[in-house]
Amino acid sequence: MAGIYIHIPFCKSKCRYCDFTSYPSKLGLADAYMACVYKEMKLRAKELKGKLFDTVYFGGGTPSVIDAMSIVGCMNLIRSEYNLAKNAEVTIEINPGTADKEKISLYKKAGINRFSIGLQSANDAILEDIGRIHTAEDFVKTSALLQGENLSADIMIGLKNQTQQDIFSSVDLAVKCGAKHISMYALTPEDGTPIYSDYLNGELPDSDEVADQYEKAWNYLKEKGFYRYEVSNFSKPGFESRHNLNYWRRGEYIGFGVSASSFMNNRRFTNTRDLDDYIKCIMTNYYPVVDDAVIEGEDAKFEMVMLALRTSEGLSLAKYKNTFGTDFPVDFFEPLKKNVEYLVCENGRVHIKDEYLYVQNSILMDFLR
Ligand code: SF4
Repeated sequence: MAGIYIHIPFCKSKCRYCDFTSYPSKLGLADAYMACVYKEMKLRAKELKGKLFDTVYFGGGTPSVIDAMSIVGCMNLIRSEYNLAKNAEVTIEINPGTADKEKISLYKKAGINRFSIGLQSANDAILEDIGRIHTAEDFVKTSALLQGENLSADIMIGLKNQTQQDIFSSVDLAVKCGAKHISMYALTPEDGTPIYSDYLNGELPDSDEVADQYEKAWNYLKEKGFYRYEVSNFSKPGFESRHNLNYWRRGEYIGFGVSASSFMNNRRFTNTRDLDDYIKCIMTNYYPVVDDAVIEGEDAKFEMVMLALRTSEGLSLAKYKNTFGTDFPVDFFEPLKKNVEYLVCENGRVHIKDEYLYVQNSILMDFLR
């Protein structure tokens, strides 16, 4: 089973923390861009014949800012050119205030069955400060159009002037509006983004404070019946993101559009982040790939370990042996010995103890060779 990712790089405006590939000023290019995405999908279709895809994910950017018929067109094309499983999970990211009843009805008719809404915070002053175009009320209205659907909400922590109560209120709002899945990410102030000056001015909470916010939010989510299945992802049982689980299980996926990444036949490759270059390449029948590498040997082993240890299910020892022909405890004897107090080995799997999952990066450094 494999996944399909489609990147829609348009937004209404740029958030102050945004380091994603998104072009607020180029929305006028959306139709031309989508024609290129269709062409890229057709170009790749032949080599992917025989692969069964069981998830599709429209991410961005803001997929919901473009014409809904472009999304419908993508789904039609996937069904005609690719082998899409009947029970495929099909997700679209939506920003509050950018999708109305008609759009959502078209999405549903096209087979979209999972909706991920960018709430970020229930505090309007914080939303304004980070440059979001919506209010908490917009989130309420958009999620009201999706009642009964499989709903996920994104929440950010580590923001300026954000209290623990703000984070609890964001969780409360998401849950009240029907979210069965919550992605909770700490702000990463990237150099070159406007929010970086807040970081330089010491206006953002430090890493210990953010870790504390996270810990309390996790406990709060537990009380609400959510469990953590990946370091930043929480769901009610049965509402995990199948698309993202496939990434962490080192499953295959193909990405279309500007900056989209793929992992197929042991190759990782990524499209250009430049919209004009992307369009030019596709128009001249070239794949717009800028990074392309076969992942093998020690790199492949580390990759599987690193991805699996982000999750609560952890690493399957049998899968490791089947993939590489060697034993995980033998290959990683030294780092395992060093980190034994942080790990659990049970039922043929190894995972990081719950209380250390948030600091998994420092544990994983020891596994890197
Ligand atoms: S909505 Fe998302 S992709 Fe768009 S500018 Fe904001 S953070 Fe970036």
